[in-house]
Amino acid sequence: MDVTVTKLELIDFVPSERASEVSDIALSPLELEKFGIYLCRLWKRIIDKDFPLSLSYRNPTFTRILAQKFPNVRAVPLFKAIFPRNTLKFFNFNESLERGMWGSQTPFSPFITGCKPGFYVFHIKTNGDITPCPLNPAYLGNVKTHRIKEVWQNSKILNIYRNLKFDKHCGKCIYKIICGGCRAKAYIEFGDHSASDYSCLYNKRC
Ligand code: SF4
Repeated sequence: MDVTVTKLELIDFVPSERASEVSDIALSPLELEKFGIYLCRLWKRIIDKDFPLSLSYRNPTFTRILAQKFPNVRAVPLFKAIFPRNTLKFFNFNESLERGMWGSQTPFSPFITGCKPGFYVFHIKTNGDITPCPLNPAYLGNVKTHRIKEVWQNSKILNIYRNLKFDKHCGKCIYKIICGGCRAKAYIEFGDHSASDYSCLYNKRC
């Protein structure tokens, strides 16, 4: 049986426990970096050959790798990732919607951002608990007892994320406005919402 694949979406592995507990199955920062660079090369080939495949990789640090490898391509700073008009124009968003969100006009479908919770995403579990994302267990409230609007606007955790109030490496990094590190990894590893994403090779250089 032939299978035609037109869209491939990869999502970074976010351990639900501390990284040291799963070091035998998780990629190291260097391996993640090499994987990101490999995907950049693969993407370029897909574009050059006009191959009908849309490829995406959800990992905030990949935004930084893309920005470094493709400096002529615009990475959308996190605070602009709420669909400003010029961004929609740049990504030809209307056309993208007609063809499907993951149209092939750009390898960066439909736009590039880093860690999204607090900017235009949060997560509601089936029991009503609100968390920053499906991978981040931090409790923000529950829809049965809290107003969603108040959680969104007043959550101290989301305000740390959206104000980019990070410590150490991610806090000093020039790429934090387009990346910000995986907040789920940082919180699960250090129990601190401002901590750095330990899986980024680059944070060792900041
Ligand atoms: S140091 Fe932090 S903000 Fe900078 S690229 Fe790495 S994960 Fe992203």
